[in-house]
Amino acid sequence: MSLRQECLWEQLTSTRPTAGALSGELKVDVCVIGAGITGLSAALHLLEQGKNVCILEAHETGHGGSGRNVGLVNAGMWIAPDEVEAKLGQAVGSKLVATMGAAPALVFSLIDKYAIDCQLRREGTLHMAHNSRGLADLQSRCEQWQRRGAPVEMLTGSACREATGTQRIAAALLDRRAGTLNPMAYTSGLAAAVIQLGGRLFHHSPVTRLERQGSAWWVITEHGVVKAEQVVTASNAYTEGEWTELRRNFFPGFYYQVASTPLTGDAAARILPGGQGAWDTRQVLSSIRRDADGRLLLGSLGSGTRKPAWFLRAWADRIQRHYFPELGKVDWQSTWTGCIAFTPDHLMRLFEPAPGLLAVTGYNGRGVTTGTVVGKAFADYLCQGDPQALPMPLQPMAKVGAAGLRSCLYETAFSLYHAGQCLRVVI
Ligand SMILES: Cc1cc2nc3c(=O)[nH]c(=O)nc-3n(C[C@H](O)[C@H](O)[C@H](O)COP(=O)(O)OP(=O)(O)OC[C@H]3O[C@@H](n4cnc5c(N)ncnc54)[C@H](O)[C@@H]3O)c2cc1C
Repeated sequence: MSLRQECLWEQLTSTRPTAGALSGELKVDVCVIGAGITGLSAALHLLEQGKNVCILEAHETGHGGSGRNVGLVNAGMWIAPDEVEAKLGQAVGSKLVATMGAAPALVFSLIDKYAIDCQLRREGTLHMAHNSRGLADLQSRCEQWQRRGAPVEMLTGSACREATGTQRIAAALLDRRAGTLNPMAYTSGLAAAVIQLGGRLFHHSPVTRLERQGSAWWVITEHGVVKAEQVVTASNAYTEGEWTELRRNFFPGFYYQVASTPLTGDAAARILPGGQGAWDTRQVLSSIRRDADGRLLLGSLGSGTRKPAWFLRAWADRIQRHYFPELGKVDWQSTWTGCIAFTPDHLMRLFEPAPGLLAVTGYNGRGVTTGTVVGKAFADYLCQGDPQALPMPLQPMAKVGAAGLRSCLYETAFSLYHAGQCLRVVI
C-alpha cells in the first residue's frame, strides 16, 4: 500500500467550516489573526463576553499546528513543575503550573458546552519510561505533581504492561487529568461555535500589514481591511508575512506522524486498551496513540516531508516491531508533518507590543490545552484589562538568536537518530 502525504485528521473531519475571503472594509471590536486553537478560543471567549469579533485566516481553519497535531490533551507543560517554578519564580511559576494542570478540564468543558464531536477520550495520557534515566525522570515528575495534589500515578509491572500493551516499558506515568482527541475536529468545532455566536470568519485572507490609524488598528489583507479596537495575533509557528516581529521570537521545528490502516484482532486490542495517548522518554521521542477506528498513529520529532516514503515506513515498522511485535506486518496509510514553535527555555511567550495588540508563541509542542487557555486568557484580559487574567506575565519581544541554525541542527540530529533507530543502533 502506498503511503499518502495527507493529514489523517482532515480525512476524518467531515464537518469543517467554509468561509470566503475578506473583501472591502469591516469594523469590529476585536480582530483575531489565525484560525487555530488560540485564535478560535480567543474569539469564542470574546464573543461570550459580548464583543464583536472577526477572524482572518491565511488558509483554512486548522491549517496550522491545530489541525495536524497528535491530539494529546496534555496537563502541564513540557518541563516539570519544579523547573517551571525555578525558572519563573515561585509566585509566577506556581500560577502557571496550576493553570496548565487544570487546562484539560477547560478543553473538556468547551467540548461539552458546544457539543463538539471530536473523538474525545478523557482517560488520560501515559508517559512511558524507555530506560532507567527515563524512569527516574518520571518518578520525579510524579512526585512533583502528587505534591500539588494532581491525580497522577506510576504504573509498573503487569499494570504498566496492560495499560501500554507493550513488554518493552517497565513503568509509565499515568496522568488522569489528560486525554486525546481529533485535533482538526476540535478546531473545526471551535470555529462552528464562533460562527454560532455571531463571529465572522474569513479564509484565504492572509494579513499583509498592520497599522495604527488614530484609535483603531487597521488589519490589512490583499482585498480588504478590518478596523478594530484590539487585535489578537494568533499565527504562532505558522506566522506568514513581514508585518509582525513574532516569527523572530521562536525557532521552528517539525513533527511527523505515520498512521496505519484500521487494525483489528486481539493483538491490536491490547495496544493502549484504555484509550490513553502515549509517548516515550527518549529525547527524540516517539508518540503512540490509537484513533476511534483502531488505527495506530506513531509520531516523532522532525520533518516527514523531507524524508522519502520508504524511510518513514521503515521507521514506523521499526517502532511498531519494537513496541508491538505481536501485531505482525502493519500497513501504513498516511503521513503528515507540522511545524512547532520552540523557545530555548521551553516556555511560551505572551506579548503586548502596543496597547490593544496581543500576540503569543512558543507552545513547544503543547498547544491543544495551552492554545485554549491562552485564547481565553487573552479574551478576559482584553475585556477586563486585568493582567492577572493572563497565565504568565507579558514580556517584551526578543529575537531568538541563530534560529535558522538551531532548526537546522535539530532537524539533522532528529534524522540521524531516526536512522539509528531503523538500523537498531539506538533502540
Ligand atoms: C505535528 C504536531 C504535533 C503536535 N502534537 C501536539 C499534541 O499532541 N498536543 C498538544 O497539545 N500540542 C501538540 N502540538 C502543538 C500544537 O498543535 C500547537 O501548539 C497549537 O496547535 C498552536 O495553535 P495556534 O492556534 O496557536 O496556532 P496554529 O494552529 O498554528 O494556527 C495559526 C494560524 O495562523 C494562520 N496565519 C499565519 N499567518 C497568518 C497571516 N499573516 N494572516 C492570517 N492568518 C495567518 C495560519 O494559517 C494558521 O492557521 C503539535 C504540533 C505539531 C505541529
